[in-house]
Amino acid sequence: MYKQSSGTTGDTEGTRSIKQHTNGRQKATIYTDSQTTLSMLQNSKIHTNIIEDIRQWYEMKKAGWQIALRWVKAHTGTRGNEMVDTLAKKATTNGAITESYAKIPKRAVLRQLEEVSARKWQRSWTQTTKDSTTKEYFPDIEVRLKMKLKLTGNLSTILTGHGNIKAYLHRFNISGEQTCPCGEGDQTTDHIIYDCAALKEERDRLRAAVNKTEDWPTSKRNLLQRHYKEFSKFINSISFEELNAE
Ligand SMILES: [Zn+2]
Repeated sequence: MYKQSSGTTGDTEGTRSIKQHTNGRQKATIYTDSQTTLSMLQNSKIHTNIIEDIRQWYEMKKAGWQIALRWVKAHTGTRGNEMVDTLAKKATTNGAITESYAKIPKRAVLRQLEEVSARKWQRSWTQTTKDSTTKEYFPDIEVRLKMKLKLTGNLSTILTGHGNIKAYLHRFNISGEQTCPCGEGDQTTDHIIYDCAALKEERDRLRAAVNKTEDWPTSKRNLLQRHYKEFSKFINSISFEELNAE
């Protein structure tokens, strides 16, 4: 898909820039001049910090962001690379950073850039009402950026409230019924996590794990941020097909 031009050696750590269009749609483009970075992104065995960071931005697709990955030629004054420098300079003139741009390693500049972007992102995250379910788990976008989530279909459904659950299907007129087959209420993400009678056994295991450190029920935010392993195990054990079979 991407070709590296002859005579160019990709940086091993990759170079990226994040462009945000805050007017209207939520969009971000990640630019890299590193072929290595692109192939590392596609290799699921690689978990270096920088690669995980990029992956997390990429995963925000599932929270409604449009994220694109672009390769640009290295060291040739292309727009993408110049953009890194421009944005990096902006990042250093923003807030408490006082050092001269020239003295800071590029990696550190990119780190600052990411933090500035995260703050901008936080602002639009706080303003938008669209992803209110996701916000219950991540009121703070920087926490989201630091968490390594394995986003399965089930977990995405529970984090976003979008997917194969009856309340969602009902809202979009795909299914007429939003009552859960267990008979104890509408099948919302809260119902599935806290109440659904059909999931009692699996939930009891989660509850036992949570009870080691705090009372049940605990907030969705705590479930995800403090009990990620057990919580994702519970969520991933659910078969929505089975749950909703007539
Ligand atoms: Zn139920």
